Amino acid sequence: MSSDILKTPIEFLKGVGPQKAELLKKEIQLFCFEDLLHFYPFRYIDKSRFYLIHEITDEMPWVQIRGYVSHVQLHGKKRTTRMTALLTDSNGSSIELIWFNGFRWLKDYFVPGQEYIVFGKPSRFGRKYNIAHPETEPVSPSAITQKSAMHPVYSSTEKLKARGLDSKGISRLVKTLIPQVKDYINETLPVRVREELKLPGLRQSLVNVHFPGDARSLARAQARLKFEELFYIQLHLLNLRNVRTKESSGHVFKKVGSHFNDFYHNNLAFELTNAQKKVVKEIRRDTLSGKQMNRLLQGDVGSGKTIVAVMCMLIALDNDCQACLMAPTEVLASQHFESVSKMLEGLGIQIKLLTGSTRKAERKVIAEDLKNGNLKILIGTHALIEDVVVFKNLGMVVIDEQHRFGVAQRAKLWKKNIIPPHVLVMTATPIPRTLAMTLYGDLDISVIDELPPGRKPIQTIHKFDTNRLKVFGFMREQIRQGRQVYVVYPLINESETLDLKDLHDGYESIVRAFPLPGYAVSIVHGKMKPADKDYEMTRFVKGETQIMVATTVIEVGINVPNASVMVIESAERFGLSQLHQLRGRVGRGADQSYCILMTGIKLSAEAKKRMETMVGTQDGFVIAETDMQLRGPGDMHGTRQSGLLDLKIANLSKDEKILRYARHKAMDILEQDPLLQLDENAVLPKRLKELFGKFVVWSKIS
Ligand code: ADP
Ligand code: MG
Repeated sequence: MSSDILKTPIEFLKGVGPQKAELLKKEIQLFCFEDLLHFYPFRYIDKSRFYLIHEITDEMPWVQIRGYVSHVQLHGKKRTTRMTALLTDSNGSSIELIWFNGFRWLKDYFVPGQEYIVFGKPSRFGRKYNIAHPETEPVSPSAITQKSAMHPVYSSTEKLKARGLDSKGISRLVKTLIPQVKDYINETLPVRVREELKLPGLRQSLVNVHFPGDARSLARAQARLKFEELFYIQLHLLNLRNVRTKESSGHVFKKVGSHFNDFYHNNLAFELTNAQKKVVKEIRRDTLSGKQMNRLLQGDVGSGKTIVAVMCMLIALDNDCQACLMAPTEVLASQHFESVSKMLEGLGIQIKLLTGSTRKAERKVIAEDLKNGNLKILIGTHALIEDVVVFKNLGMVVIDEQHRFGVAQRAKLWKKNIIPPHVLVMTATPIPRTLAMTLYGDLDISVIDELPPGRKPIQTIHKFDTNRLKVFGFMREQIRQGRQVYVVYPLINESETLDLKDLHDGYESIVRAFPLPGYAVSIVHGKMKPADKDYEMTRFVKGETQIMVATTVIEVGINVPNASVMVIESAERFGLSQLHQLRGRVGRGADQSYCILMTGIKLSAEAKKRMETMVGTQDGFVIAETDMQLRGPGDMHGTRQSGLLDLKIANLSKDEKILRYARHKAMDILEQDPLLQLDENAVLPKRLKELFGKFVVWSKIS
């Protein structure tokens, strides 16, 4: 029996029943008692304090104010409808409250002459603040004299609220639940770990996280739960790494031979940066170790990852292995093919390109030469992982722009050889350290943190739409000097047709403003046929067109050194890492480059912060950190598919210190007890199985 009570279906909790249980499952994935127990409040209100409107600042994540409500009004029509009201406090200052749905219920909610408590996140527009979708409550003695100052707030949904399960409703359920299950909550951390780090027990922590007596006991409970959450992820990842390095051996690249040396002495046109040298050394060490290498190479756009990849492939060749390089799109694959072929010119190395549009006859030749080993380097797209592609002895796999590839796809590449090939994953989206430690916690990470010398920093400028004519003038001037220009529009899935219209309108106004002769304009977007897209792209690459109007399809990897101006339209709609990627398309040649961020005049505080960050720095890691702080790790570029980021309580942008403790502790434990067989660690394998038993071992191959 014991802890089985925690698995009791949620419908058997008093106050739930079958219908609410259905909703709880669907809306917030609460299936059993235990799920509710671990459904933590997402914040706490210190309801002991009311602010005056003039005291509100940008730094406040939320604020509690009180006052009278007037001017309740509906604006706009259909899709753009919103409701506003004015709250005036005892000082006579007012703030706008705003709602985008729920009008029917709200319309008659506010009673004139009644004072309300309003709670929400203030956002600044110009010099004024408003609060969107505030929580409101009439002032009453019970609302003001809260028993405890730290009041839990649970996230809920419209549907749950309609059934009485708003934050308060959920809090009531937790209150019912805890006395029933308290005695069955078993400790999930080894005693020694808890004692060393002075962490409170699980039972006490769970009680306190839901109903904190005071700020201090809340902080202790949170620290414990955060630690536990991060600790088990690290234990899981490090354990995977152990398993992999213990069970599978890798190619040993004993020698550095003529392929590498000839290239290094004859073909390398420049001195490697120290960062590049360091990474080559790291890879060299890995490939000598007898273990399969799994390394993530992070480096900002333009930091020179390709050369590093090529050198690693050459070492594989020197050791009688083949190598392949996989890119996410045809355009990128062909670009890689061309630049790698050029780099290796005169070395007598057979290189081929394989993509979806490779002809049948050519495919046959490729297949044969791969099997007999004449073909040394294969570059391509997803086509590389098809089963018909069989290597004689694949020793090194390089994956560029990794986030576009699924896990299963990479797994297929990995299995192409009896001895698994070494894998180097390259990403141009720098990710914050804490995110890397979590997402790639089982990989080794290399960083190129230095750009090749002589690069001129890209000048980044933020302009409002109203200055468009000036921007056009600037573009003309640059084109007159022989440069090329990108103009990028957002294309965001939900409103594709609308965005596509924006793009076409923009294209037309540019064609009008930049007439022939003298100006030819290309247009490229994701809805075009691949062949048309390639055609337009190629025209721009060859310099036959001066302006490229595009959506973010050009975001990844495209290299046109002569393009020195990047104009980003509606820049406020892009995330930071995307803006950074786009900017990385310029600044590749010898000329001064520019990135112009065009936005509307009304910007949210967050959008403003993004523009300021872009103008202020070109350091991809700084940008990535800021991005994570603004958006949270779960939403960052390409990280959405990973279950490892579904954190219930820890926050990767705030809890770096706890994460480091957790990783170290997990390392210590695995070092002393690699198979987790000691009595004192008995709880660990049990809990790992509960948490990750059904997990896809996705990171195993990357
Ligand atoms: P990314 O890391 O974005 O893939 P690339 O490998 O495409 O960057 O390199 C960008 C440009 O910098 C290329 O034109 C490359 O030839 C050049 N480059 C790379 N390393 C160096 C270096 N050490 N010195 C000078 N130029 C370099
Ligand atoms: Mg690249």
